Amino acid sequence: MGKVSLRDRLRQGLFLLDGAMGTQLIAHGVEPGKCSELLNLESPGLVLRIHKAYIQAGSDAVLTNTFGGNGFALTRHGLVNRVADVNTAAAGLARKAAGQTKYVLGDIGPTGDFLEPLGSLKPNQLTTVFAEQAKALLAGGVDGFIIETMAAVEEATIAVKAAKSVGSGLPVLASMSFDKRGPDFKTMMGVDVKTAVSTLISAGADAVGFNCGTTTLDEYVELAKLFVSAVDALENTRATSHERRVAIFAEPNAGKPELLDGKAVYKVTPDEFAVAAQKIYAAGVTIIGGCCGSTPDHINALAKKLRG
Ligand SMILES: [Zn+2]
Repeated sequence: MGKVSLRDRLRQGLFLLDGAMGTQLIAHGVEPGKCSELLNLESPGLVLRIHKAYIQAGSDAVLTNTFGGNGFALTRHGLVNRVADVNTAAAGLARKAAGQTKYVLGDIGPTGDFLEPLGSLKPNQLTTVFAEQAKALLAGGVDGFIIETMAAVEEATIAVKAAKSVGSGLPVLASMSFDKRGPDFKTMMGVDVKTAVSTLISAGADAVGFNCGTTTLDEYVELAKLFVSAVDALENTRATSHERRVAIFAEPNAGKPELLDGKAVYKVTPDEFAVAAQKIYAAGVTIIGGCCGSTPDHINALAKKLRG
């Protein structure tokens, strides 16, 4: 049995992503600071087990374990020549868990550096690095791409365009991390919701959203409402269709991280998470998963609550 394309599926309403990978790896004994992406080659069984747990919990899609799989991030671990291996293997593992009925999103995170003049990166270097990662993910069999946790809108834009350029027409989801700053939400680089939404949509993103950040559950709900009004305002100025062309997605953390013995802990329970997710869904966000601290239990609670 074939499945509908991811692009069509994203237009059909509620779509559940998975929860965290990084904090799950640590919960399974991986040392913090270890290159998580190398585990796609060194401990494929563990990565596969986490993907499968999310599919069993009710995720419609799993994200590849490649958040730090771009050339800049891998270079910090001395793995500059492993971009293709790591990303293609990761996509294969996610595909194995998702089978032919669920979806795989190739995960692309930030480089961890800044564009000139703030940092040393040049736009064309960024394009090359993101395109290299997207190509390797595509070779491993992804259904689309998800660009997450971005703070700089220029970097996010370049990532979207790079994934689009090599992605064989597959959809690209793009999200940034917001924190509450006074009455507003802004990324670490000072980008507000309206700017993020309009810039990412112009760059070609098929869905726009927010993930991670140091935000409480109530603030995520507030952020969801801001996203929906920003997308609606943009589409009303140009769209004739009632249907939103661009879907909105949210991957909240399991609450605001608290520091305990120097480690970030996330205290939100699966039920509390599901209650907030229901409010986010009611606001008009149709693609929902979890970021740091969320577990298969959180996704399972969310699936039960939203699917009844
Ligand atoms: Zn996170």
